[in-house]
Amino acid sequence: MSSLRPSPIAPTVDFDKDGVQHGFLRLPYSRDDSAWGSVMIPVCVIRNGKGSTALLSGGNHGDEYEGPLALYDLARTLDPKDVGGTVIIVPAMNYPAFRAGTRTSPIDKGNMNRSFPGRPDGTVTEKIADYFQRELLPRADIVFDFHSGGRTLDFVPFCAAHTLPDKALERKAFDAVAAFAAPFSMRMIEIDAVGMYDTAAEEMGKVFVSTELGGGGTSRAQTVRIARRGILNVLRHAGIVDGAVEKTRTQWLDMPSGDCFSFAEDDGMIETMVDLSEPVEEGAVLARIHSTGRTGVAPQEVRAKMSGILAARHFPGLVKAGDCAAVVAVHA
Ligand code: CA
Repeated sequence: MSSLRPSPIAPTVDFDKDGVQHGFLRLPYSRDDSAWGSVMIPVCVIRNGKGSTALLSGGNHGDEYEGPLALYDLARTLDPKDVGGTVIIVPAMNYPAFRAGTRTSPIDKGNMNRSFPGRPDGTVTEKIADYFQRELLPRADIVFDFHSGGRTLDFVPFCAAHTLPDKALERKAFDAVAAFAAPFSMRMIEIDAVGMYDTAAEEMGKVFVSTELGGGGTSRAQTVRIARRGILNVLRHAGIVDGAVEKTRTQWLDMPSGDCFSFAEDDGMIETMVDLSEPVEEGAVLARIHSTGRTGVAPQEVRAKMSGILAARHFPGLVKAGDCAAVVAVHA
């Protein structure tokens, strides 16, 4: 167990004060170019009296942009007159990674979503995780963490929650997913849930909702619109922001087992054979991996292990053995 020493992070905002506050989670980080320096993680608190608290984050991975774009925007525009309760916004959770445009932190190579519950005496990434674990998550009723595919994956735009042993909590999470109203809504499983922010929140009994909205290390007009509308919908659904949920059609998808995932078994140049959201049959070739060291070599085929639609794929043109090449999801 990590020690019970207090977090080194000092917030410059008061989470219990009414109104709009723009400030920082200041994390001391002594280094060559700044002896008594700090990492300044932007935070916004919008509070209007008692009520539920929503904790909203983007930039858990630093190369995913729909969340930060939607959340910097929300922090700038949400009027406390329209709020009942508290909205805590951290648009770039792993701020050093976000500044570098990389998935993990350039300081310690920390993957925020594998660092929970964190440590107050650990690396910079572990200290941020610990602050969320012990200071921010306990305040929240609903936790929303934006993801996209980052530089190496591209997804159909979906909002997601996990199937959980606590069916009442699962129901609340899927109701919030439905309110987000992305083109797709996913009942999600994880390859490896240890150390995830998701798991930390769910183990605390919090309603936890996430997204995968595109990827490729950039954003698209459509996916940013989905993010902005969706997060307001979730806040309205939770009764924290006034107004009606803007309903649109969503297609429910399921990831029923690890057979959803197909991994590359060779290095090479990847050729996608199916585009995102297209239907696939079990056994269909999802991608071909071409050996490039010599001519005359037959490509390796990556096949679907179940029927459904292509929900995600490897994004860069080159692939390495072990990379996730494709994800198939089934219609729920
Ligand atoms: Ca991510």
